[in-house]
Amino acid sequence: MDYPFKNNVPDPLLSGDELPTFKFELEKSQGRVDGGSFGKEATVDQLPISKGIAGVSMRVEPGVTRELHWHATAAEWAFVLSGRCRTTVIDPQGNSEINDFDAGDVWYFPRGHGHSIECLGNEPCQFILIFDNGYFSEFGTFSITDWIGHTPPAVLAKNFGLPASAFANFPKQEVYFTHGAPPPEIAPLPHSGMLRSPSNTHRYRLMANAPYTTFRGGREWRVGADEFPISTTMTGVILDLDAGALRELHWHPTSDEWQYVISGQVQVTLFGSRGRYRIETLNAGDVGYIPQGYGHSIENLGDTTARVLIVFNTGHYQVIDLSQWLAGTPDYLLRDHFAQAENIIAQFPREDLFVVEKKST
Ligand code: MN
Ligand code: MN
Repeated sequence: MDYPFKNNVPDPLLSGDELPTFKFELEKSQGRVDGGSFGKEATVDQLPISKGIAGVSMRVEPGVTRELHWHATAAEWAFVLSGRCRTTVIDPQGNSEINDFDAGDVWYFPRGHGHSIECLGNEPCQFILIFDNGYFSEFGTFSITDWIGHTPPAVLAKNFGLPASAFANFPKQEVYFTHGAPPPEIAPLPHSGMLRSPSNTHRYRLMANAPYTTFRGGREWRVGADEFPISTTMTGVILDLDAGALRELHWHPTSDEWQYVISGQVQVTLFGSRGRYRIETLNAGDVGYIPQGYGHSIENLGDTTARVLIVFNTGHYQVIDLSQWLAGTPDYLLRDHFAQAENIIAQFPREDLFVVEKKST
């Protein structure tokens, strides 16, 4: 069972008189570039408040593979924005899995599972990766070329069953993005390893499903451990907010929140106790971060629908909305808190709103 609260110690970063920024312009950053392929990251180095979650925007061109690697300190959750790609993954039980992904699909690789990601077809593939550790860097992964390139040839000879001279022309440094011909449309089977059964697959087709919830003013697709059992440490959401709609004031008792604006422009408010309040405007390609338990809202200020990818570092998402709190509290208490007359209190929300649509005027 998950321990519901990740830490109970004061965070020195958040103990000051003002909240630090919780915005990072991810797509405007440089990152690591190889031709038309790139990886851009948001870790505590780029966005110091984001201690619980790091993220990456990655694009791989046709014929390019993000090489075989694993992560020592984070699981990986991903959402495919455009194009198609194929992943391979090996787990500690020796099961291998090969999956093909379209835009709108999600994957989850538990910490330490070895994997690769390659572009499928003739168009580039772009995806957003999220890691359940803000200190995790995509440029510090355990990559197969880096490992083999630094291991003595005598050890490699024994391990591979080849003469030591066979390794003379292997890469000496991490390749990171490998280059080759686009892969066959039908993946060949691995030489050994049970293919995983669908019940614990690494792939989930998030946007191929109907929205999890539809409201006046928006829609939400959501996937956590209940829907996608392997995703024990992450829950992902696609939130569409119609023009002028507000994802109301709320907080998450058990998780941090990482945001990536896919389209549109939103205004995010953040409340950090002791009068500390901060507002950021996030445009497409920008990242936002809400620490566990902090009050916040997301409002679409544009005149078209805004789409936001939101990921929580828990498999079992929890939330308390302001309207839910108000509706669950006797009127006399609210009257005395806000020093308002009964007829004002009587107009407060009487149920959970979640999203508030723009009022027609
Ligand atoms: Mn990875
Ligand atoms: Mn939230």
